[in-house]
This record gives sequence, structure tokens and C-alpha cells, in this order.
Amino acid sequence: MTPSTSFRVAVLPGDGIGHEVMQPCIDVIDAAVRRTGNFELRYEWLEAGADTYRQTGNALPTSTFEACKRADAILLGAMGMPHIRYPDGTEIAPQLDLRFDLDLYAGVRPIRAIPGVPSLLKSPRAGDIDLVIIRESTEGLFASRGKGVIENDREARDTLVITRGVCERLFDFSFRLGAQRKANGRPGRVTCVDKANVFKSFAFFRQIFDERKQGFRDLTADHVYIDATALMLVLKPWEFDVIVTENMFGDILSDLGAGLVGGMGYAPSADVGDEHAVFQPSHGTAPDIMGQGKANPTAMFLSAAMMLDWLGRRHEVAGAVEAGRLITRAVDDAFRGGRLLTCEFGGDTGTKEVAGAVLDAIETSGRA
Ligand code: ATP
Repeated sequence: MTPSTSFRVAVLPGDGIGHEVMQPCIDVIDAAVRRTGNFELRYEWLEAGADTYRQTGNALPTSTFEACKRADAILLGAMGMPHIRYPDGTEIAPQLDLRFDLDLYAGVRPIRAIPGVPSLLKSPRAGDIDLVIIRESTEGLFASRGKGVIENDREARDTLVITRGVCERLFDFSFRLGAQRKANGRPGRVTCVDKANVFKSFAFFRQIFDERKQGFRDLTADHVYIDATALMLVLKPWEFDVIVTENMFGDILSDLGAGLVGGMGYAPSADVGDEHAVFQPSHGTAPDIMGQGKANPTAMFLSAAMMLDWLGRRHEVAGAVEAGRLITRAVDDAFRGGRLLTCEFGGDTGTKEVAGAVLDAIETSGRA
């Protein structure tokens, strides 16, 4: 049967372990699409990253950027290498350029305990961790990227920017996500994380949050300061549902969150705008483990699941939403009972073995 819908996916494996987790991810997506059907994905593999910069002098070639703009979704591995840098000493990070250039204001960072993945938290409630951090991704302190100044070797300055336009869209996005999660049995709590007790910019951030919450009265909307959030995320992470915060705070909290559920190899992400979206694992290129077959591809798989869910909802293709669910379920089934132990825990389950277990779970899912 000819599929009724075809999506174009721009595939940017990038550098380091980005390459190693991408092909297994495509295999996993294809297996899920075969099971749920009636749509197809057409992949366009594209060059970008530190290695591309080394070879061509441009980390994000125009042809790659244009192809990303034309695509229905962008799937990215990881980019950057500590030893390949711009002349000013900063690291190559075209994933940040994509966020700014495609206006991907909502950085979606789910932090969910996967059954069977060890947790460093002793509490039995660690298994209940299921929250999403929404990190604003186009302004905040990162608005100063490439614009910071050092004056006379005496003083350095980077400026944090908060705008009403971006905040309104960011908070509405967060409340809509809270409502969607509430419909699936989550508490429906959206927490604004800021430092409104000290900075004017954050008081403004909070004020806009309070304005926008009026449109979502079924949800619980509250505020927690960034420092208290760091504490609460370690003490009682299971109490959070949706957290929305500024770019730099979100950058830090999402790594903390990843640590709560097994590490960077378990933390998927999406950078979503009104027209485009990039899906990539939260981890970087991990030069320390590259080329050894050790990279945990789980975050990449879960990012692909988020992509399928986003495409399916946006274009009303139920099969794509189901394919996303199937991948997430297959990841849970593969790890359940502690069957796989990845390198983050000193185990020897590598990229190939995790991918094989997830593929098996996709094949057997729902079959008696
Ligand atoms: P960046 O500077 O972009 O954050 P990075 O590779 O230096 O990139 P992370 O991605 O945050 O840093 O990873 C930190 C460490 O966690 C890596 O050095 C690696 O040891 C481990 N790690 C990250 N991703 C994975 C993965 N997918 N599988 C196994 N270990 C990983």
C-alpha cells in the first residue's frame, strides 16, 4: 500500500558519537514506521558540525541550512569537538545557530525514569520521576552569544535579554504541554523557575508567566526560584511536572535532570518553534568514548520518538504519534528488569546491543 503521507527529515549526524547513534536511530524509526504504517519518512543526510568546519571553514553550510528549512523535521546527533574552535576560542555549535535562525524558542527536555535503568537516588519514588523542563532557547543569557565584551582586560560583560514576544509564546507552549500531560494523568502543574527576587529581567519573566496563566485556569501555576529548584530537583524531583525557565538556567537544570535518570545517554530533547523543530539527544559528542561502540543511543531514540509525536500531532497523522509511542514503549521494554547495563553504570551494553534490544522490542510489541 502506498503511504498517504510522506515527511522529509533532515538528518545531521554531526560529530563524535553523534555519528554512532544516528544510523541505529534511523533503523529504530524505520522499524516503528513499518509497524504503525500509512506514512513514510524520506531522509536527507546533511553535513554540519566541527568536522565540516575543519574541512570547509563553515560549520553550517548554506545548503544544509536551506535543506533544514525545507524539511518537515530535523534530526540531529551531536556537534562540536573541544579541539576544533572558532578563532575567538569558542566551540563550534551549529545546533545553537539553528535554534536562533529557525526561531526554536521552546527547548523541550523530558526527564523520565526508564524502568530498569539504575538511579542514584535511593528513594523508591525515584521511579516516579516524569517531568519536562522547557528551556527558552533563543534569548536569555544566550542572547549575548558572540556579543559579550571584555574591556581593557579589566571587565567582562554579557547581557541577558527577556522579551515579551518570546515569553508569551514560551509560556503558552508550556501551559499547552501541561494540559496535554494532564489529559494523560499527570498533575497539570506548570512551574516558572526564575530569580525574580533579585533581577528585573526575571521579575518581568514572572509577570508575563502570571499573565499567560490566566488562559489556563485548569492548571496549577506556581513559581520557584532557581536555587530552590536545584535543591528540590534532588530532594523531590517526582513532585515536578512542567518546569519553564530561562535559557541558561534551563541549560544547567536539564543536565541536573539527566543525572537523576541515568545520565546524558537517557535524556532526549527537542527545540521547537512555530514552523520548525530540531530533535536531538541532550548529550554532546562525548570525545572520551567515541569510536568504541560504547555510546548509549537511548536519548537519540527517545528524541526520534518525540519527533514522530510532533509530526503526527502537527499533521494529524495518527500513525506517526503511534510510532513515537511504540519507540518509547520499546525502550522501556528493552531496559525493564535491569537487562541492559550501559557504560554510564560500568556495564558493557554498547550502542549495538541497546539498538538490538529496542528493535526486538518493537518487533514483538503487541504480538502474542
Ligand atoms: P558538550 O560540551 O556539548 O556538553 P560533551 O560530550 O563534552 O559535550 P556531554 O555530552 O554532556 O559532554 O557528556 C558528558 C559525558 O557523559 C561524556 O564525556 C561521556 O562520558 C558521557 N556521555 C554523554 N553522552 C553519552 C552517551 N550517549 N552514552 C554514554 N555516555 C555518554
